[in-house]
Amino acid sequence: AEPAPGGRREEEDELAGWQRDLRRQFPIVTGHPGLAYLDSAATSQKPQAVLDAVHAYLTTTNANAGRGTYPWANETTRMVERTRRRVKDFLGDPDPDRSSVHFTSGTTEGLRIIARDWLTTHLADGDEIFVPFTDHRANLDPWREAQALLAARGVRVQVRALPVQAESFDYDHRALAALVGPRTRFVAATHVHHVYGGDMNVQRIRAAVGPDVPICLDAAQSVGHQPIRLGPGGLDVDFVVFSGHKALALPGTGAIWARGARGPALRPGGWPGTPNTVGIASLAAALDWLDAAGPERIADWTTALATRLTDRLRHLPAYEILGCQASLGADTALPPQQRRRGIVSLRHRGIPSDDLGFVLFSHGFMVRADSLCQSGADDRAVVRVSLHVYNTEEEVERLAGVLATLS
Ligand code: PLP
Repeated sequence: AEPAPGGRREEEDELAGWQRDLRRQFPIVTGHPGLAYLDSAATSQKPQAVLDAVHAYLTTTNANAGRGTYPWANETTRMVERTRRRVKDFLGDPDPDRSSVHFTSGTTEGLRIIARDWLTTHLADGDEIFVPFTDHRANLDPWREAQALLAARGVRVQVRALPVQAESFDYDHRALAALVGPRTRFVAATHVHHVYGGDMNVQRIRAAVGPDVPICLDAAQSVGHQPIRLGPGGLDVDFVVFSGHKALALPGTGAIWARGARGPALRPGGWPGTPNTVGIASLAAALDWLDAAGPERIADWTTALATRLTDRLRHLPAYEILGCQASLGADTALPPQQRRRGIVSLRHRGIPSDDLGFVLFSHGFMVRADSLCQSGADDRAVVRVSLHVYNTEEEVERLAGVLATLS
């Protein structure tokens, strides 16, 4: 039943108060009142708690990890280990004693490590893998490179397109189920698309491929933006790769989570090399901050802002909105209001995207305006508006107003 109008008003006021309090914790945001940062899918801004954790680490126990016998080195080693556990907790790992976490510089490096260290040692001549052909290049190039490495050793592997539905850009689980065969050994997928902003219904991939095919999830646009729950009933996958810097931690941070026996093959350069200890300290603080703020509410907030923006623009004929809610598929495991995440990509039918980007910056809006590293046929430039918890309804309304004057 619809809540009474008074009840809804109270809920909205409470949510707005919650968001105001969180926004105040981002010094770069409050320090630039005339500017609106709308490029969080590229990298996120950092709350004061993360800046404080960085300062605290560098001014108290900064040392190398995994070596040295004096207290600062020991504490740094413990901090790195604590953060591995923190990542598992944050991802809702149901079996943290059997999984592993490997620190990386971001999603691109994480996917490369899985391709190089795991995939190339687990495929035989005649095997096939399914990978996305229309997602971020970071989730295609490493698999092709692995294929080339194997070919040089005389091992021929087929790299096939993970099928997508034409209208919605969703993965096509039925088509996948029909294509999977006895030589299918691996599937790579994307949790939330970095251009279309849709949650790609990856829960359905497990059913399509069966229990034994390893699934690797590019979670660059979901970790830090929405609740994540691994395991059966949630995300039943074998690898999760994400960028810490998109989840409020420092640049140069990221992680691979690997289920059970899959982890030991992975050898990120950081271990036994020197890991990015300050970045890892920032990641622990960022995950604490996100958990305290509430990933569910963050998702509700950014989804509501993205929906508000698409609602304002969808009736303006000058704009093509990519993957807008209306075109998200009906064949979904999630209700429609949860399918749209905080990313809206658009094109103006008369103004090139890079020009539109400049115009928007002249009004104080920082958006992304290029081809967004997308693989596949549709690599024309777009303007992407991507949101996080520090963005406001007022920013979105103002942006929609400026876009309307150009239509
Ligand atoms: N995958 C997706 C879906 C992304 O959106 C991005 C970043 O834009 C990446 C991978 C690459 O992330 P990073 O630049 O942190 O390596």
